[in-house]
Amino acid sequence: MLKRDDWLDLARKLDWDFSYVEEREVFPEEISGSPWLTAETWKDWDEPYRTSYTEYVKNQSIKEASVHAVRDAVGKVEDFQKHDPSWINGLKLHAATLALAEFAAVVGNLRAARFGRDSAWRTTALLGALDELRHAQIPLLIMHELVRWDPQFDWTHKFFHTNNWIAIAGRHLVDELLITSDPMEFAVGTNFVFETGFTNLQFIGLSTMAHAAGDRMFEKMVKSIQTDEARHAQIGHPVLQKIIAHDPKRAQYLVDKWFWRNWLFFAVITGFSMDYLTPLKHRTQSFKEFMQEWVLDQFKRSLEEMGLALPWYWQQFLDAIDTYHHMVYASAYTYRATTWFNFALPGPEERTWLQEKYAKTWPLFDPIWEQITNRWRKSGPGVEWYTHGATPVTFCNLCQLVLCGGSPERNSAEVITRGARKYVFCSKPCRWIFESEPERYEHHKDVVMRILSGEAPGNLFELLRYFDLTPSIWGKDVAGGRYPWMQLSKG
Ligand code: MN
Ligand code: MN
Repeated sequence: MLKRDDWLDLARKLDWDFSYVEEREVFPEEISGSPWLTAETWKDWDEPYRTSYTEYVKNQSIKEASVHAVRDAVGKVEDFQKHDPSWINGLKLHAATLALAEFAAVVGNLRAARFGRDSAWRTTALLGALDELRHAQIPLLIMHELVRWDPQFDWTHKFFHTNNWIAIAGRHLVDELLITSDPMEFAVGTNFVFETGFTNLQFIGLSTMAHAAGDRMFEKMVKSIQTDEARHAQIGHPVLQKIIAHDPKRAQYLVDKWFWRNWLFFAVITGFSMDYLTPLKHRTQSFKEFMQEWVLDQFKRSLEEMGLALPWYWQQFLDAIDTYHHMVYASAYTYRATTWFNFALPGPEERTWLQEKYAKTWPLFDPIWEQITNRWRKSGPGVEWYTHGATPVTFCNLCQLVLCGGSPERNSAEVITRGARKYVFCSKPCRWIFESEPERYEHHKDVVMRILSGEAPGNLFELLRYFDLTPSIWGKDVAGGRYPWMQLSKG
């Protein structure tokens, strides 16, 4: 019998010449991606993670068995009930967005498994699709057990299918990045920027935090997912290298666009969890420190190695690390009834920690939390209140998230007029992405458009129903304002 290394290259490289169709018909540019290059140009495509199907199945079944073993040991309701309520709510946020993004990633990988331009690429993408299916199933399986304890966990599955504003923002991102993108844009936006730049490392950071918080189930889940991501993310580099060689401007554009779009989504999910929803005693580092240690240096190095420049908005991005997730969290806390998970109110100790970690910008945010705390003192423990009136807020016409760019002193929103319509953006990069491909984005129906066209109700309380939320499900303060420190500091 042949040894693995004697046959693997032959099996990986199974491209052939077409005799009765044109190559362009087999791989049309619209669906295979730009720049369109001949098979000859792709021939040397290579990724370091060479895996055969047999090896894949063997490895994956071991990983699956070990997730199940941890689930048997610590995956029951009682095991989760031991955790801090803030942590549990970070889990609800992650579980819902993970299931959505991972499922959409199945589709993106499958398109690459057919329309990727080299057979080794197509094979790796096929294994990637199987990976992503597993990643969608793991949170669905683990959280399903918890629905009978806390119905907000039902949103792990439900989230994707709702008209909740975070789901609209999430789908706006994943529809473009994962479901409809061609394999070349997918390789840059997903494999290179999102997986290599953000999530691969995010999973390391998250599993460290989960470990500190004593949540072995979540730790296992993200670690298990991360080992798959590390493998299929390898598709990104060799595809990006080809784009750089033949159309460097497009390569830079795709990197700049997807870094910004991924950053915003990432900041909301991971920023909330690291700086607000992880109990203070379990925090290993701030979101900003995490970004500096795990994302920035690594990403800058990859760009340098590739011969690409830093995105043009780099300074704005660095500024946003100090402010953006704080802006969104404060805003979402006030509008907490529009979400499916609960929010922690940072108390004196948390605020001191945030002041240490964000010395420059926290003084701008602290007064907001002082006001919110006073509002709780007025309503009294256990009495939920909402500061907002009946009018919904405005969302960015690109990222679909609330207009939280800039700082509490100066919002960075930008408005443009196009035809008969005005468009508003949370930031210059969002505006730039929109204006680079307006025909791609201009007809999207955001929440405000739906209200104006009568598709969604204009009154916020009715809008909550449109968001699929009912009083028993919608987001509240995790402690209902019953914080021991609030009593102590009252006088
Ligand atoms: Mn995945
Ligand atoms: Mn992936």
